[in-house]
Amino acid sequence: MNIEYADRIKKLPRYLFAEVDKKVRAAVEKGVDVIRLGIGDPDRPTPDYIIERMSEEVPLPRNHTYPPDEGLTEFKQAVADYYRERHNVELDPKREVAVLLGSKEGIAHISACFINPGDVNLVPDPGYPVYSIGTMFAGGDVYRMPLLAENNFLPDLAAIDKSAADRAKLMFLNYPNNPCGAVAPMEFFEDAVAFANRHNVIVCHDIAYSEIAFDGYRPLSFLEAPGGKDVCIEFGSLSKTFNMTGWRIGYAVGRAEVVDALSRYKTNIDSGAFKAIQYTGVEAFASPKSEAFRQSMCAVYQERRDIVVSALQQMGFAVSAPKATFYIWAPVPPGFATSADFVSYLLEETGVVVTPGRGFGEYGEGFFRIALTVEAERMKEAMERIKKALKK
Ligand SMILES: *Cc1c(COP(=O)(O)O)cnc(C)c1O
Repeated sequence: MNIEYADRIKKLPRYLFAEVDKKVRAAVEKGVDVIRLGIGDPDRPTPDYIIERMSEEVPLPRNHTYPPDEGLTEFKQAVADYYRERHNVELDPKREVAVLLGSKEGIAHISACFINPGDVNLVPDPGYPVYSIGTMFAGGDVYRMPLLAENNFLPDLAAIDKSAADRAKLMFLNYPNNPCGAVAPMEFFEDAVAFANRHNVIVCHDIAYSEIAFDGYRPLSFLEAPGGKDVCIEFGSLSKTFNMTGWRIGYAVGRAEVVDALSRYKTNIDSGAFKAIQYTGVEAFASPKSEAFRQSMCAVYQERRDIVVSALQQMGFAVSAPKATFYIWAPVPPGFATSADFVSYLLEETGVVVTPGRGFGEYGEGFFRIALTVEAERMKEAMERIKKALKK
């Protein structure tokens, strides 16, 4: 039998990190002490109080049946309460909140709800790859909005091609930003609301890093902007906040019709998140322990950030300390043709793994990303090794 893939599988970009992965495996086999600063996955475990709640929920028979299609009322209420307290935004948990199997799942599926073949999505470049993959799976075209250092890694909305803007259905934004570590001021969100209204474009704001921020900075919800809730669906997650990437639980909030489309689409594909996980999510939102936990994790990442940023600055890299996220986005030093060349060189010379910027889009070329997801001592060790290698 001949196996013939559909175009959407054939068109999937070759996994850009596959080359790096192969080299990492080879290095590990050779016995190299590899330090992995590549993948953006928290290294610390889920906190005990959340695990305890989960162990109470798992045995309960009420959790063993299909969850409600529309998501657990208690979970959606917890999200709404969190938005009121954290962002001063009122949400109707019935109409303006959806439960997701991780925010990636909702981000991947939202295009299917709004894109017909030939429609356009506006996608940040560099960016989380799911925005463009979801667009492509739905038959849409991607229009890339460059995120440039000189614009503080915010897209220049005025530079968006007029015909693309008019054909556009969705605009993906992500602040605090992966991979650039940038944050968005309220004025930018206000401009984006105006753009959305002018061109009839739904803003899809990915706020996965809403709780990982430093120096007293607290990231804004897009829904805090005047008129924001009318034009936006915002994707949030417990993954990064509570070290729960493996649990697969997230949410979408915002304009009721948009949230409803996503819920209806999902109802026909998955049957919701394990009720025990949704009840445990309520604990994560509502527990008085969560604020102390959040602060302790931010302190952990901040210490690592400061180690990396000051080491890179000493080495002559033009980097500044990001206000949020656990990423450092740094320019590739002179003498390397591509970010992939530099990443290979680092791996071979030092055993340190970082991510080539090109993996996040064409405008990521010339940069590399460091994830602050190993302990401070290992972070220091990684920086020492890089310093030695670059002196050569
Ligand atoms: C990690 C990440 C997510 C996805 O998180 P989920 O685990 O699917 O909730 C979404 N967006 C960005 C930018 C991320 O880095």
